[in-house]
Amino acid sequence: MKLIFLGPPGAGKGTLAGLVSKEYGIPQISTGDIFRDASKRETELGKKVKEIVGRGDLVPDELTVSLVRERLAQPDALGGYILDGFPRTIPQAEALDGFQGIDAVVNFTIRDEAVIERLSGRLVCRNCGAIYHIKNMPPKVPGVCDVCGGPLYTRPDDTRESIANRLEVYRKQTEPLIAYYRKKKLLRDIDSSKSPGDTMGQIRRVLGKPA
Ligand code: ADP
Repeated sequence: MKLIFLGPPGAGKGTLAGLVSKEYGIPQISTGDIFRDASKRETELGKKVKEIVGRGDLVPDELTVSLVRERLAQPDALGGYILDGFPRTIPQAEALDGFQGIDAVVNFTIRDEAVIERLSGRLVCRNCGAIYHIKNMPPKVPGVCDVCGGPLYTRPDDTRESIANRLEVYRKQTEPLIAYYRKKKLLRDIDSSKSPGDTMGQIRRVLGKPA
């Protein structure tokens, strides 16, 4: 199954992609994770990416497409995958159409106020990437990951300015993809304003049981 997870920042794409990946046995390919990884390196590219991601702007299409194209050629992605955070622009979607056939696009919907509430309390494990929320989904021990014991941190782009910019970038550059995939009859709308468990139930209904 080749899937795209689409939706504004904070809609829960990353959390749900993790759950679907486990249950359906397909890898989660997150361009956000790829770029956060790149920005840890002190290379020219790493520094440039760190600046762009920190502001909440988009990494240039050409670079993004070439990284995804390379990743999708890895053996574990041949039987299917979840694209989490890609494509995010019409040119990225058109490029993807040139080398991959997609089975479904899951479109997560949620109000802006809920997004801001979620992102401003988000905590992420530095070690395994598990996602928490300071109020709604706190770890058992403050600052420590339930899964692996790693340290939790706040993403540098989860500041008020960057969140506002990411929402605006989403509206201008990514939202047009909804019409793009609806026209191709690939779009499946999901209300992701409730718990991860509720959203997962809706996804199962849309995708069917794992093979
Ligand atoms: P969120 O959905 O919460 O904004 P992501 O982890 O998906 O977080 O993305 C974080 C950042 O990584 C984005 O704000 C952007 O700077 C960069 N990024 C991720 N995916 C793409 C993409 N497909 N094209 C360009 N930039 C991207």
